Amino acid sequence: IPIVTAGTKTTRATCPYCGTGCGVLIETTAGRITHVQGDPDHPANFGRLCTKGSTLHLTAATSVQEQTRLLTPQRRRARGDTPAPIGWDEALDDAADQLADIIRRHGPQAVGFYGSGQLLTEDYYVLNKLVKGLVGTNNLDTNSRLCMSSAVAGYKATLGVDAPPACYDDFKHAQTLFIVGANTAYAHPILFRRIEDARQANPAMKLIVADPRKTETAEMADLFLPIRPGTDVALFHGMLHVMLAEGLVDMDYIAQHTQGFEALRGLVADFTPASVAAICGIPQADLVQAAHWFGGHTPTLSLYCQGLNQSTRGTDKNATLINLHLATGQIGKPGAGPFSLTGQPNAMGGREVGGMANLLSAHRDLGNAEHRAEVAKLWGVPDVPAQPGKTAVEMFEAAARGEIKALWIACTNPAQSLPDQATVRKALETAELVVVQEAFATTATCAYADLLLPATTWGEKDGTVTNSERRISRVRSAIPAPGQARHDWSIFADLGRRLEQRLPERQAGWRHGMDTLFPYDSPESVWNEHRESTRGRDLDITGLSYEILETQGPQQWPMPQGHAQGRARLYEDGVFPTPDGRARFSAVPYEAVAEPCDEHHPFALNTGRLRDQWHGMSRTGTLGRLFGHVSEPSIDLNPVDMKRLGLGAGDLVRVTSRRGAVVLPAQPSDAVSPMQSFIAMHWGEEYLSGRDAQGRLMTGVNALTVPAFCPKSKQPELKNAAVGIEAVQLP
Ligand code: SF4
Repeated sequence: IPIVTAGTKTTRATCPYCGTGCGVLIETTAGRITHVQGDPDHPANFGRLCTKGSTLHLTAATSVQEQTRLLTPQRRRARGDTPAPIGWDEALDDAADQLADIIRRHGPQAVGFYGSGQLLTEDYYVLNKLVKGLVGTNNLDTNSRLCMSSAVAGYKATLGVDAPPACYDDFKHAQTLFIVGANTAYAHPILFRRIEDARQANPAMKLIVADPRKTETAEMADLFLPIRPGTDVALFHGMLHVMLAEGLVDMDYIAQHTQGFEALRGLVADFTPASVAAICGIPQADLVQAAHWFGGHTPTLSLYCQGLNQSTRGTDKNATLINLHLATGQIGKPGAGPFSLTGQPNAMGGREVGGMANLLSAHRDLGNAEHRAEVAKLWGVPDVPAQPGKTAVEMFEAAARGEIKALWIACTNPAQSLPDQATVRKALETAELVVVQEAFATTATCAYADLLLPATTWGEKDGTVTNSERRISRVRSAIPAPGQARHDWSIFADLGRRLEQRLPERQAGWRHGMDTLFPYDSPESVWNEHRESTRGRDLDITGLSYEILETQGPQQWPMPQGHAQGRARLYEDGVFPTPDGRARFSAVPYEAVAEPCDEHHPFALNTGRLRDQWHGMSRTGTLGRLFGHVSEPSIDLNPVDMKRLGLGAGDLVRVTSRRGAVVLPAQPSDAVSPMQSFIAMHWGEEYLSGRDAQGRLMTGVNALTVPAFCPKSKQPELKNAAVGIEAVQLP
């Protein structure tokens, strides 16, 4: 709600970075953002902000920032040309003409849309309807595929639906906190401060951290388990083995609320402490201690993020961790439960509206014919196509093969963020039409665009996001859109109306009386339609409205009609949203990483976040002060390996995978185990570039990463690739 005092306006909004979803107060003077502070009333952060959030105003106001903005639609007549400004009508007519032509020549499966977990829920909703309802393809995926799709698949496989059951308030009720594959201190700093507060208030609380790296989070642990990359499933099976042997499981809970335990019990019998210690590379006593605390020092809350998700076994890792909670009854009560932390600010909102290749509105499944019919009826279209859509890696691989002819990319930078850059760059070169809808003109993907469409960004946008604890918050615009930039939902709706005219065959079965599928005049009108799609579903928000968000602040879903507030915690009654009301155990074997090390590539490469940078740095990279923490890319190596390779701190090394190579300085780090390595994900081509075997330019660490993905969630294994490392001899 804007509050105006003496020429300064204050607007409540939400931080656009991580999935913590902190509330911010944006101060503006004379149409410029001048200051940001934490919103003391927001239940995610109670006024606190981390370094990224507290410098938002500086990234919005610097002249560098203004120079990096895309301010007008632009078109390239030929690849490699400098793009020339054009008007919005011309740009969208051109885009609609070309898309319709490709659809007529090759069918709707020849187009692909790739979005972002930073789009607002309203943006996502319109995009989903445009692609699946109008164009008639499910080739719509987002960078949330790189972020949370394994968590989605893990929840659905065990608990029935994609719904994190816990909340931030649970930190202060937990006796044991189990953080796995998450550097919360860097990736979710305000949540980590809440954890530190909880530990201070309760010195008896135990913190266990399992991670291949001794991260800043692991430094704080009572027990650190430096497991080998990709061995999480073995760890969880081993912990269950110990808990079974020592009577720490809750047989009453298992009998009343679950099914499938006997198969799991049989499977974990082989995961003895000795065998698991050998697989994971940890002391046997530490494994036993972790099991004792998890099952005996309760309530137990698990927090996890990309270390579980970004894996070819991502779904199994999520599901087998949830096994531990079901086996001990550590779910559905204060301080207990499996709790996935979302990487991006609105990965949750995207899941809610079904804005991914395998999902439909309100947690419906594309593979379910009844769900497709329900969504078609809601939208007023004859059908939603049954053919599965291409997920992120698959979409770009299909474009590289020439099967997808048009790529529409919104609010994300696949030429940096997707694994196996050689294939991604080939896809962008091969596609007949590449449209990039972006706030920033500086991303590597913009260089491939035939059409560039300027979009609004934080401080300008209006709508909603959902954070890790299912809490829906308002994002409000504090300043007008610069130049000709437009809101993403409005660009999608405008494109949709133009495509309707060019694809009249898709209109044939529309609900009688409809003029357009996109009758929206505001984000609220979009959100109201989304709200109706949730009626009767697990995430029912029919009791919520923009007005309630204004007057009562952010709310957690579900909040069905007639409820005064949302639900903090799920499954308190032990009833799960499965056909028989019981949760499912997941009895899956342990399998190793997709790309094991060999004599040519003997090091395991891990990737992840720095504290003060965000994604590809298009915003944080404009502010010098955010380089104070880490100023340049490096590869972290154990001092033993540095010595063996004859390297000093800062010496250049060539890092080579089966897909490409980069050159960067090496730094010694005790956080990294011998024969492992770490490169931060943020560095773009101004800082870290490489070449593939054809000499094609590639950006950052994803020149090296592997495109293999989890067969269930389709999330790629960004956390492990085999690499060779050699010193670079300078002339
Ligand atoms: Fe923003 Fe996340 Fe920092 Fe909160 S913790 S201020 S949401 S980056």
